[in-house]
Amino acid sequence: MYVDVHAHLIHPSFAGEEDAVAARALAAGVERVIVNGLEPTSNAAVLALCARHSHLRPALGLYPVDAGAAAIDRGAWVHDFAPPAVVDLAACIGFIEAHIDRVIAIGEVGLDAHWAPESLPLQEEVLRTFCRLALRHDKPMILHTRRAEQRTFEILQQEGVSRADFHCYGGKVKLAVRIADAGYTLSIPPVVERGEAFQALARALPMTAILTETDCPYMGPDRGERNEPANVVRGVAAIAAARGEPVDEVRAAIAANYRRLFEPTSGA
Ligand SMILES: [Zn+2]
Repeated sequence: MYVDVHAHLIHPSFAGEEDAVAARALAAGVERVIVNGLEPTSNAAVLALCARHSHLRPALGLYPVDAGAAAIDRGAWVHDFAPPAVVDLAACIGFIEAHIDRVIAIGEVGLDAHWAPESLPLQEEVLRTFCRLALRHDKPMILHTRRAEQRTFEILQQEGVSRADFHCYGGKVKLAVRIADAGYTLSIPPVVERGEAFQALARALPMTAILTETDCPYMGPDRGERNEPANVVRGVAAIAAARGEPVDEVRAAIAANYRRLFEPTSGA
């Protein structure tokens, strides 16, 4: 089976097509798609969508930029989109914990030093809260680590989190190998087909540390095209090509890595 551990099917670009996109994934052999929530509204929508498809699994979280929203200096915001609304953190975390038995992972959560670095202290505080939530309920975590890969790694180690996937990792290869050595996985999106940095990552990591994702609608193999879970098939082929290994072996290894991290007790 193929697996997509990081998809955003709750995104305006999929509106009204979520069920068709989910069906196309299954038809392509993508038997597990972890749909990641980003904030309270998408978390609720993720649960509703996943309830309709047995190959979709919900992960609920809070995007780090949203997690740090209360600490953003709005007067200094220079980007061409509005800063995120302030989230009621207690309510958001309470909702996730109330539905914890249905979720396969806590995510996406993490740190983002790119958009609003002044909010990093608050992002870290929220990430630590999510680490403790994950540990309390024995759930793995799916992490966003933009320009904060090292710091995220340190926080996981300090908090004693052993089950986690670094999604769409963009840091140094050397650090990625240390992250893998510590027992975490790193998930690679289909953009690996034309992305040299991800190809280098696919070559450098031990096979036991590699997972696949799409991060759809972003990070697709075709420039400017909407990405979707069915494209992990192309991602696996590109990872196998980069490593010089047979596609079937790479696909099977990734499926085994998926089960170990996300479904260790199932016979799937
Ligand atoms: Zn994401």
